[in-house]
Amino acid sequence: MNQRYMSIDIAACHGCNICFMACKDEFVGNDWPGYTASQPRHGHRWLNIEYLERGQYSRNDVAYLPMPCQHCQDAHCMKAAPDAVTRRTDGIVVIDMKAAKGNKALVDSCPFGAIYWNEEENVAQKCTMCAHLLDDKDWKPGLPRCVHSCPTGSMKFYDMEPAEFAKLAKKEGFEGYRSAELKNAPRVVYKNLHRYTKNFIAAGVLVDGDCCENATVTLKSKKGVLATAKTNFFGDFKFDALENGEYTVDVVAAGIETSQTVVIDGASQNLGFIELASKTAKAEALAV
Ligand code: SF4
Ligand code: SF4
Repeated sequence: MNQRYMSIDIAACHGCNICFMACKDEFVGNDWPGYTASQPRHGHRWLNIEYLERGQYSRNDVAYLPMPCQHCQDAHCMKAAPDAVTRRTDGIVVIDMKAAKGNKALVDSCPFGAIYWNEEENVAQKCTMCAHLLDDKDWKPGLPRCVHSCPTGSMKFYDMEPAEFAKLAKKEGFEGYRSAELKNAPRVVYKNLHRYTKNFIAAGVLVDGDCCENATVTLKSKKGVLATAKTNFFGDFKFDALENGEYTVDVVAAGIETSQTVVIDGASQNLGFIELASKTAKAEALAV
């Protein structure tokens, strides 16, 4: 049977918050009987957008991580309140507004902080993947509001067989956020997640003070060569998606070689400029 999934491409997300606003527009002040109560005006972020800055000026970047309920197959919230939190046949995890009344502990059951407490209604709430719209044949886009509103196409929605989605996930490199640690088998997955969870090493190469295009840079670890790259027009290179550890960066430019050790320990490394002097420049310096 078809299941519902979402993917979010971290490299394409600009953190514009339009998806967050679409969620507000759909749920604040709107009761959806059988699905969820109205979302309070303040305090709830059913589609929370976290962000992370990596590197140091001027080789730095920012990644945004839109974080709705992950609609986990192995859901911590379902274990905490099996009578109140259930999974629909299409895989969407929903909180029953009547059965969950007064159960404030549900908020802490989600390791992603995706559940919020509605004081007025005395109930816990979260993203429903817009199940009320997906069930409405008259809702022509056939998408959750966040996906429908995303201007960059970062968010995508799928209605397909698990085997078909597994194939797509492999092809696209989709990953669950913290899913290796939590073993939650999420239905919301991310592309280019390394932009949020891993680090990079970057630098510029200068030869005799000028940006050196096409220098060869090799990244090694104790296991051997991991990657090679050519510097761009500005003499810059970048190796991304790196785990914590010790690396060696070898640079060959204008017949000169240099090497340095770089340690990644939870932060990306901008090495600044790697400055080399050509043989001609060295000979001229000696002649002076
Ligand atoms: S992300 Fe949290 S609220 Fe959503 S299904 Fe998983 S455990 Fe439950
Ligand atoms: S609307 Fe799209 S680009 Fe904007 S924050 Fe949401 S996911 Fe990112």
